[in-house]
Amino acid sequence: MIKLIETIGHDRHAPEVEYDHDRVIPYRETPNRAELIRDYLLELGLAEIFAPQISDPSPSLSAIHTLPYLEALPRLSQAASEAGRYLYPYIFPVRPSMERIPDLPFGLLGRHSIDVGSPVGPGTWSAAVAAAQAAIAAADLLVTDPTCLPYALCRPPGHHSGRDFMGGYCYLNNAAAAAQRLKSRGRVAIIDIDYHHGNGTQDIFWDDPDVFFLSLHGDPQFEYPNYAGFSDERGGVLAPGTILNCPLPRLTNADQYLATLTRGLEAVIRYSPATIVVSLGFDTYRDDPLSSFALDLDAFPKIAHRIASLHLPTLLIQEGGYASDVLPRLAAAFLEGWGI
Ligand SMILES: [Zn+2]
Repeated sequence: MIKLIETIGHDRHAPEVEYDHDRVIPYRETPNRAELIRDYLLELGLAEIFAPQISDPSPSLSAIHTLPYLEALPRLSQAASEAGRYLYPYIFPVRPSMERIPDLPFGLLGRHSIDVGSPVGPGTWSAAVAAAQAAIAAADLLVTDPTCLPYALCRPPGHHSGRDFMGGYCYLNNAAAAAQRLKSRGRVAIIDIDYHHGNGTQDIFWDDPDVFFLSLHGDPQFEYPNYAGFSDERGGVLAPGTILNCPLPRLTNADQYLATLTRGLEAVIRYSPATIVVSLGFDTYRDDPLSSFALDLDAFPKIAHRIASLHLPTLLIQEGGYASDVLPRLAAAFLEGWGI
């Protein structure tokens, strides 16, 4: 039975709308995603709730995010509270001539956002911190008991959040926070199987030789985050070869996906990590509204089994997955494939 760690108060973050390219639609990253997974895993007896001692996340967060960014997020939540609504960025200072930041909420928001997919509301900062705390608690639990499989039900998700930016529903990088905590035990490998490239995680560990990052995802030639996730991104000068991006085409099926995963895991084995963090997204499922892959339910136990075959201490961090009617079954199928 796995130890499920919830994000306390995650439902304080619940934007109503998002921009899907140029359309305004209901926000897909909804609070019920976490609740549906939790309820179903408990009902099946696959999981039990683990309520950790809440620790100060500051040391982990300040190691993976910049101080100006960590100061901006609570200010933005405060500004949203005063405005009584979610704040969306609309000016992005991406040109060298735009270095000065006006001391206004929108100045900070544009400076620290890569897109319009992460609006900040009154409860966003507290929910994001709680999600990071859940991830850190999962890391601490794994250190205490390397044989258990902690599953941090993080919400909001994290893998699109980089050192100084939010984007794609993500504000603080939960998987990176867990990995940072685990580095005291030796090298860490992050295996990102969300449908989208974990550009934030890559940004954070770009020059870190102690963390290996493997990501399988929709090809950025056509898929978010578009500006990162290409196969020639292999890590910075201080950590060459510690990033392995595997962009995949539309309609990728289970055989193609599993063959790519197997090659990626061989690289993980060569890296010889002490622990594994899985950025677990279920939006690779064929009927997910964000997916272009052709993976059916049967693929998920196989994916889990391949990763479990590494026989390394592992924890799971919830990332994406938006087909809410089938999301709980995808999570259960994954855990059953792990051998839970
Ligand atoms: Zn995703």
